[in-house]
Amino acid sequence: MAQHTPMMQQYISIKSEHQDAFLFFRLGDFYEMFYDDALQAAQELEITLTSRDGGDVPMCGVPYHSAENYIKQLIERGYKVAICEQVEDPKEAKGVVKREVVQLITPGTVMEGSMLEEKENNYLASVTSFNDGTFTVAYNDLTTGENTIAFIPDGWDAVLGELYNRPVKEVVVAPDFAEDWQVTLRDRLGYTVSFQEEVEIDPAFEHLCVHLHQDKYKIGFGRLFNYIQTTQKRTLDHLRPVTIIELNHFMTLDMYTKRNLEIMETIRKQGRAGSLLWVIDATVTSMGARQLKKWLERPLLSQTEIERRHRQVEGFLGQFLERDELRQQLKSVYDLERLAGRIAFGNVNARDLLQLKQSLQEIPMIRETLMKFEHPDIKAIAQSIESLESLARYLEDSIHDQPPVTIKEGGLIKDRFHAQLDEYRSATKNGKQWIAELEQKERQATNIKSLKVGFNRVFGYYIEVTKANLRYLPEGRYERKQTLTNAERFITPELKEKESLILEAEDKIVQLEYELFLEIREYVKSYISSLQHLAASISQLDVLQGFAEVADQHDYVQPTFNQARTINIEQGRHPVVERVMNDASFVPNDVLMDESSDLLLITGPNMSGKSTYMRQLALTAIMAQIGCFVPCTSASIPVFDQVFTRIGAADDLVSGQSTFMVEMLEAKHALSHATENSMILLDEIGRGTSTYDGMALAQAIVEHIHEHIRAKTLFSTHYHELTGLSDHLQRLRNIHVRAEEYEGKVVFLHQIQEGAADESYGIHVAQLADLPDTLIARATELLQQFEKESARQQVHTQDDEGIAEQMTMFKEDVPKPAKQQTSQIDKHLQSLNLMEMTPMEAMNELYRLQKEANSK
Ligand code: ADP
Ligand code: MG
Repeated sequence: MAQHTPMMQQYISIKSEHQDAFLFFRLGDFYEMFYDDALQAAQELEITLTSRDGGDVPMCGVPYHSAENYIKQLIERGYKVAICEQVEDPKEAKGVVKREVVQLITPGTVMEGSMLEEKENNYLASVTSFNDGTFTVAYNDLTTGENTIAFIPDGWDAVLGELYNRPVKEVVVAPDFAEDWQVTLRDRLGYTVSFQEEVEIDPAFEHLCVHLHQDKYKIGFGRLFNYIQTTQKRTLDHLRPVTIIELNHFMTLDMYTKRNLEIMETIRKQGRAGSLLWVIDATVTSMGARQLKKWLERPLLSQTEIERRHRQVEGFLGQFLERDELRQQLKSVYDLERLAGRIAFGNVNARDLLQLKQSLQEIPMIRETLMKFEHPDIKAIAQSIESLESLARYLEDSIHDQPPVTIKEGGLIKDRFHAQLDEYRSATKNGKQWIAELEQKERQATNIKSLKVGFNRVFGYYIEVTKANLRYLPEGRYERKQTLTNAERFITPELKEKESLILEAEDKIVQLEYELFLEIREYVKSYISSLQHLAASISQLDVLQGFAEVADQHDYVQPTFNQARTINIEQGRHPVVERVMNDASFVPNDVLMDESSDLLLITGPNMSGKSTYMRQLALTAIMAQIGCFVPCTSASIPVFDQVFTRIGAADDLVSGQSTFMVEMLEAKHALSHATENSMILLDEIGRGTSTYDGMALAQAIVEHIHEHIRAKTLFSTHYHELTGLSDHLQRLRNIHVRAEEYEGKVVFLHQIQEGAADESYGIHVAQLADLPDTLIARATELLQQFEKESARQQVHTQDDEGIAEQMTMFKEDVPKPAKQQTSQIDKHLQSLNLMEMTPMEAMNELYRLQKEANSK
C-alpha cells in the first residue's frame, strides 16, 4: 500500500477520533471529505465524488462559504458533523498546517438559526440508568442555556413517556447502556444516540449544580454536561443552573394519552394544525410559543399556581384595547432568549445587537401598557420586569443603525462613541474633502474644464487630463503616472500624502471598529443572566395574554376547582372540533358526575359523537390545569393528577400495528397507575377481538375501576349489553348520544342524554348511507335472528338455575356480576386477578374459558 502523504496521515488520525461524525476537513476554501465519509456524503448531499492520491482515496467537498446548508441537511437526517479547521497561519507553518476539530455539530447541539425551529426548543437529553431500576433524564437546550433534570423512579416506560413529552433531538447515554434500549431510542423514537462516559463535572461549572443535592442528579447531569463540553469546545457562559423537574408536581400524561388527545400534533399528519396547541396558541413571540409548549408538556397540580395564572388571564381579558396594544408591542420583541445564547457563544453580529437594542427599547413601553391594566396581578407582572435601560442606551450609543452583516469591514460603530475612532474618521473626511476641492482648484488654475480627480485600486488617487488638453498644462505641474489612449493621469506629492493619510485612517478605522465591537459584545455578555430573566418574564406574559386572546375569541370561561371529586361542566365543547367544523355548528353538552358517580358508560351509534364527548372532557381538564380558560359556559372540576386515554384497536386507525395485545397493554398501564384523582377515558376498548372475550374483558375492566380505583371514568362501548351494569354498579351511570329518526332516517343530534341508547342504529346508519332498501330490510331481519340466537346461546352456557330469567336478559341486561351466578366460568372469571396477568396470560385464559364454554 502506498505511503500516505503527511496531510492524509493527519486526516486519518483526526478521523479516528470522530468515527461517528462526518469529518469536514478544511483545505483552503473547501471542506473536504474522504473515504467512507465521501462516499456517503456524495450520496446524501448529491455532490460530485472525485478522488485523490492517484484515484485511491474517494473524496468530495463543499465550499466553505456555503457549508451551512450542507451541514443542515446532514443534521436534519440525524447525522453529526465534526468541523476541522486550520488552526495556524499556513505562512508560518512548518510542514503540514496544524488542524483541529473546533466544533462537533450534532442534532441536539445546533446553534445556527437556519437549522432551528423558532417555536420549538431544541433539546439534547441524557438518560442514565441506575442499578436499582431508577433513571434520570437530563435536558439541555444549548440555544437558550436551559438545563433541567427529572428523576424517574418507575422504569423504562416512564423514561420513554418523559422523553416523548418534549422536542428531543438527541440522547446521550453511557457506552454500556443496554443495547435494546438503545435500539428503542434510535429506531422507534428516531433519536440520534450519542455516548459519554465521563460524569465528573469540571469544578469551573460547579455553580450549575447548586440545586443538585443527590448523586443521581449529579451523575445524570454530569454526563450531559461533559458531552456538551467535548462537542462544543468553547465558552458555555450562558448555561443556567440545572433545575429539578419534580414530576409529582405535574399532571402525568403518558405517551399514548398525549398522542391520542392530539395535544401537540395530530396523529395522522403529525403537524401542529388540528392539535390543541394550534387552537390555544395566540402568542406573538417565538419565546412565548416555546413557553406555551412547556406549559402544555406539564399541566400543574397546585391549585394555587393554577389559579394565579387564571387571575392573570382574567386581568388581560378585561381590557381589550390595552391587550391589543400590548400584543403590538410584543411583536417588536425579538427572540431575546436565543439572542442571549448566541451572545454567549460569541457568534452575534452588529445586526443581532441592533435587534437586541430594539427589543430592549420596547420594554419600558410594555411596562407602561401593563400598568394600564386595573388588575393588581397584571400590575405585579409589570413590576417584575426589569427593563435594562442602561444596556439599551449603551447599544443605542454604540451600534450603527444600518450595520453590515460582517464584522470585519467597518460600518458598525456610531460617531461620538469613541474619540480615537472619531479622529480617524475626521481625518479621512478632511482628506476626502481636500481632494474634492482639488478638482475645482486645478480646473481654475489650468483652465482645463474637463480636468478631473479620480481613484482606482492600483494607482490610488490621480488627476486626469485628456490628450486634447495636454498642451494647456504647464510643464512640470504634475508628475506623470499612467498613459491611457486618450488621456494622461498624473499625481502630485501632496495628493499622495493625503491619499496615504486617508487609506491609513481607513485601515485603522476598520481595525478599531472590529476591536470595539468585540468589546461591546463582551460587555453585553455580562448582562446574559438579566437577559435570560427578562426573556422568561416576556415569554410568560406572552402566553398569558395569548390565553386571554383565545378566551375572548372562542368564548372560553374561567374554570373553578372543587375538592369534592365533582365534575360539573355546562355546555362543554371540544376546543378543536368546534374550530374545524365548517358548515354545521358544534352542539355543546354538559358533563355531570358528582361524588356518587365515577363511571359514565356511553352508548350510541357510530359517528354520533362519543369519542368527541370523551376527549373534550380530558382536553378541558388539561386546559384548565395549564392556566387556560375552557370551552363551556361554566366548569367546576377537581384537579386531576393523571389522565389516561385508551382507544380500542379498531378505532386506532393510525398506528396500524395496534393489536388487541397493545390495547390490553395500554389498559393495564392505565389500571395500574390510576388513582381516585385520575381521569380515565376508555374508548371502545375490547373491540380488537371477537365479540365475547372482548366484552368480557371490557366488563371486567369496568368492574375493576369501579371497585378498586374509582377514577372518574368515561367508557364508550358498542357492547350494548354492558349498559345493564348500572343495575349493580352503583357509581356507574349510563348515558347515550341521542339520535332521532326523521322520515325513516337517523339524524345525529350529538346530544348527550341520560340512559342507554337503543340498539339498532348500525342499520340506520347504513340507511343513511343510502344502501338499497331491500338490503336494509334483510339486515333488519338478520339482526332479529342473531339476537334470538345469541340469547339461546347465552342460556346454553348458564346453569339450570334461572333459565327463564336469562331468556329475557340479553335484550336489556347483561350477565349479572358473579355474586348472583354460579356458573363455573363466571367463578373462574371472578377469581382471575387481571392486574397481575400479562396480556398473553389473559389471552390464554380466555382461550381456555371459551373452550370450556363451547364444550358444554
Ligand atoms: P363516535 O365516537 O360516536 O363514532 P365521534 O366522536 O368520532 O363519533 O364524532 C364523529 C363526528 O361527529 C365528529 O368528527 C364531528 O364532526 C361530529 N361531532 C361529534 N360531536 C359533535 C358535537 N357535539 N357537535 C357537532 N358535531 C359533532
Ligand atoms: Mg369513536
